[in-house]
Amino acid sequence: MTASDTATALPTLDMDMSLSVEEAAARHAASGLLTVDLDAIVANWRLLAGKSTPAECAAVVKADAYGCGAVPVATALAGAGCATFFVATLNEAKALRPALREQAALYVLDGFFPHCGDVYAAIDARPVIGSLIELAEWDVFRRRSGWQGGAALHIDTGMNRLGVLPAEAEGLLPRLRQADHGLTLVMSHLACADTPEHPLNGRQAVAFREIASRFTGIPAALANSSGVFLGPAFHFDMVRPGAALYGVNPTPEADNPMQPAVGVEARIVQIREVARGDTVGYGATWTARRPTRLAVVTAGYADGYFRAAGGVDGVRSAEAVVAGQRCPVAGRISMDLIAIDITELSDNAVRRGHMATLIGGGVTVDELARHFGTIGYEVLTSLGRRYHRIYKPAAAA
Ligand SMILES: *Cc1c(COP(=O)(O)O)cnc(C)c1O
Repeated sequence: MTASDTATALPTLDMDMSLSVEEAAARHAASGLLTVDLDAIVANWRLLAGKSTPAECAAVVKADAYGCGAVPVATALAGAGCATFFVATLNEAKALRPALREQAALYVLDGFFPHCGDVYAAIDARPVIGSLIELAEWDVFRRRSGWQGGAALHIDTGMNRLGVLPAEAEGLLPRLRQADHGLTLVMSHLACADTPEHPLNGRQAVAFREIASRFTGIPAALANSSGVFLGPAFHFDMVRPGAALYGVNPTPEADNPMQPAVGVEARIVQIREVARGDTVGYGATWTARRPTRLAVVTAGYADGYFRAAGGVDGVRSAEAVVAGQRCPVAGRISMDLIAIDITELSDNAVRRGHMATLIGGGVTVDELARHFGTIGYEVLTSLGRRYHRIYKPAAAA
């Protein structure tokens, strides 16, 4: 192999000389690169915190921080002053607790998992209690173990998912006379916050205010990401944004106020010419209407790039950015590969080993979600495990 062969064969992954040999090798061996911009996530948290002042801005880091990595994300946010974190499951809390300071509050949204009281106690996790039976189980555990940890009471105001009814919550008010009642938060969850004009928003805010105000001295929280943008009547004492931290637009009817936090690039493994009239991919759903040049990249639906975004004749497909230009996906998305129509690019613009940008460079998570037939939340939480992850700035060890 000559030196120039080597140069062409080398993927032009970020050939940053500051990379360790191991890091460079890991980048070359992966199907693609998933870049998480921790600075952007911190900036998004600050923006949400500013919008919600004087309410406290917590952070929802469930589902591995929506695919971004719960430990690096929570570490970065704690460094910026975030003091309260929400995960969904007890296992998520277990994985996250060692990365947090003792004083950080850690809530488990799915509640008090049966037979697990010792774990809550060991890691000082607070269940978000969603039913009276759960509250009774938690009380039994506390009585038996003597554990003094806190819990949130979830009150359902119209979501009809988790939470005690307002009338049931009212029945719990006498409990507040006990010094060790244990409740550190009352909360509810909005069902339609991303649709500001939906009448359920106002009804939930009123219902929640009514019941929360009777839990004197206990902080109250209602808003998710979109709820932050519904105004001060929705902020109460604490807000709980998730998706907006990671760049998903919390105001779908207006421009996105958040910074994009996630980028995905996949390697071009082959460039090939296809004759006019030839079809591309499984099912022959896409026909070349001109002599076509394709870039085949090493990512697919197993990496969270949904099959729904594939190129079908007559349908506008999703786009990727190649050599700085948007190019459409051609043919079905395979498990491990995607073909991109790069005919519009000049001949020398791109070669094997270059990277195609699947998310980033103007292609947003929300845009991809429309092609996938879903929402940005599902795009993020579906991001595959085969990508090599890069944290910017590098997460503190
Ligand atoms: C997921 C979740 C959140 C965060 O919602 P986003 O829309 O991602 O901001 C807040 N509260 C509860 C109860 C949740 O389940």
